[in-house]
Amino acid sequence: AKKSNIYDYFIYDEALSHNLTQEEMMRKDLEKAVQNDEFIIYLQPQYELKKNKVTAYEALLRWNHEKYLSVSPSKYIQIAEENTLIHEVGQLVIDKTFQLLSNNKEISISLNVSPKQLLEPGFISELKDKAENYKIDPKQVSIEITETILVESFELVIEKLKLIKELGFQIHLDDFGTGYSSLKYVKDLPIDALKIDKQFIKEIENDEKARMIVETIINLGHHLNLKIIAEGVETVKQAAILNYLKCDYLQGYLIDKPKSAEIVIDTKYPKLDL
Ligand code: C2E
Ligand code: CA
Ligand code: CA
Ligand code: CA
Repeated sequence: AKKSNIYDYFIYDEALSHNLTQEEMMRKDLEKAVQNDEFIIYLQPQYELKKNKVTAYEALLRWNHEKYLSVSPSKYIQIAEENTLIHEVGQLVIDKTFQLLSNNKEISISLNVSPKQLLEPGFISELKDKAENYKIDPKQVSIEITETILVESFELVIEKLKLIKELGFQIHLDDFGTGYSSLKYVKDLPIDALKIDKQFIKEIENDEKARMIVETIINLGHHLNLKIIAEGVETVKQAAILNYLKCDYLQGYLIDKPKSAEIVIDTKYPKLDL
């Protein structure tokens, strides 16, 4: 049998308690952050290949605090989802995004909605009221949902998404190809676009199988009348392959990193030479 080492316990214990306090601290800071309005929206451009220019943006949450600005929102979204904070965070993302849209009528923005948020009673009427209050056209807005939303309450989710679409908003299925992806979702959900996960895009240059899968997703989507957005596009070669495969939109560091909304909206992005 393996001899246990007293130092293993020590290190394990140390790390564990350290982690706990870090998470606890984040949870406390998160509550204050909501009260003190410490959240901001970064935008990342989406380049439309057919038009050869940036025509849309994804809103990505950032915590404007020296300790947390570089922390990925997936970390604190997860903590917020464990209690009711996610609703407040979700509402402020919608408010801030709609404010941007009301000042910039010619752009489109997609925003991430967490499963808990979508299933919260009243979410749809709040979306509708906010669109009216900010005087924006729902056509300017896409709601990004992930497949994890669908594991539970599939029928309820379909009903909600249909209502959201009836209001004029678009629906994008995020992180397509990972997790619980199922063709049933693509068949039954009222979606407008698929976002191919960056894990696949990363591999299309060197892995023929990954390239075939991406090609298949693009063709599948087009047969179903869906737009295709590739995320995590970092190189010209990836962009050239995606252009050849007739992908509709490119998103990734090649075009730009997510940055403060005002900067991104004012940036004139160059034409890609593919
Ligand atoms: P996501 O929706 O899949 O967002 C894409 C993530 O990929 C972003 O990470 C973005 O910064 C990153 N990314 C973009 N281009 C590239 C690239 O070329 N290479 C690589 N390696 N990464 C790239 P971020 O901003 O850290 O967000 C992480 C996740 O947090 C998001 O994943 C989304 O699930 C969640 N999230 C972000 N904002 C919100 C929000 O307002 N509400 C909710 N519910 N979730 C959000
Ligand atoms: Ca997203
Ligand atoms: Ca994604
Ligand atoms: Ca993701």
